Amino acid sequence: MTSLLVHWAARDAVREAAMSAPAARDLVNRYVAGQTLDDLVPVLRLLASRGLRFSVEYLGVPVEVPADAARNLQGYLDLVQRLRDEGIAPGAELSVRLGWLGQELRDEVLDGGRTGGELALAYARLVCRASSNAGAFVTIDMSHHELVDGTLAIWRELHQDLPGTGITLQAALRRTEDDAREIAMPGVRVRLCKGSFRAPRSVAHRGKHDVDLAFVRTLRMLMSSQAVPLVATHDPRLVAISEELIRRTGRAADSYEFQMLYGIRPLEQRRLVDIGHTARVYVPFGPGWYDYYVRNLAERPANTALFIRSMLGK
Ligand code: FAD
Repeated sequence: MTSLLVHWAARDAVREAAMSAPAARDLVNRYVAGQTLDDLVPVLRLLASRGLRFSVEYLGVPVEVPADAARNLQGYLDLVQRLRDEGIAPGAELSVRLGWLGQELRDEVLDGGRTGGELALAYARLVCRASSNAGAFVTIDMSHHELVDGTLAIWRELHQDLPGTGITLQAALRRTEDDAREIAMPGVRVRLCKGSFRAPRSVAHRGKHDVDLAFVRTLRMLMSSQAVPLVATHDPRLVAISEELIRRTGRAADSYEFQMLYGIRPLEQRRLVDIGHTARVYVPFGPGWYDYYVRNLAERPANTALFIRSMLGK
């Protein structure tokens, strides 16, 4: 039922209706900081005024041909320039999804003999360098399981160039404990999330309990390493376990981060800061905001009902 509703919400006619329905826009704005840089900046300033750091995720246009990836590259570069102009770039994180930069482009649509991965690496390098020049840094998002090897290979190249570049791992994947062990070198920023993509049982833990256990095993290893764990979860039990591990390992507040999505458990985000933890809010914005929201619906059936009610004006 949920997948049918999500499919419905992704249709062009529904997309247009939703984008012009004020109540639906209000609902989306709880989770997305608007479409433009002018929408984004006040949100970032508000978070900063509350002691929260931010990670901006640029939601680009769908990538079907190389020109789309080039457009998204420009979106990232404009973002860095704006953060710089506003004086809020130092310490900012950009979350970069390699798909926006062409990683998944098929060979038939590419010219010059480059693969999608090579194009994404070249573009991501530009984003990482621009960010670094502005005092900011990049963490690479992780997409579906078939892209993990390619994403790790690109991250390794970027990290060699700029060691502040972080990577995301998904606890749901069976390989993640090994990947984390290999990556957890001193100072490496490793973001651990549960994972939001469905994957076959052969490569992924399927039940919530198994994913949570895998999350804790990997988290324990990261916390006792010299890497910088970025704990990306809203799950109260996992947050409590993380706090306990931080206490036991005696980690300083600048050697780990809690990371949560914009609009989700905002009081918890502030509580973490108030008691001395480092907390960063992942703030999505950009032209692809609607698709981001629909993906979010796929994860949260309860949000789907809210969304439909808002479109109907109820
Ligand atoms: P859950 O058990 O799913 O949620 C715990 C509680 O949090 C829920 O009971 C609910 O109260 C609240 N909650 C969680 N999500 C929502 C929501 N969408 N709407 C409303 N309430 C919610 N996934 C990837 O696959 N690749 C990535 O690169 C990636 N990057 C991420 C970066 C950050 C900073 C964060 C926070 C998440 C990222 N994710 C990524 C998503 C992640 O994998 C999970 O799908 C998502 O965080 C929900 O899992 P959870 O750990 O919060 O636990």
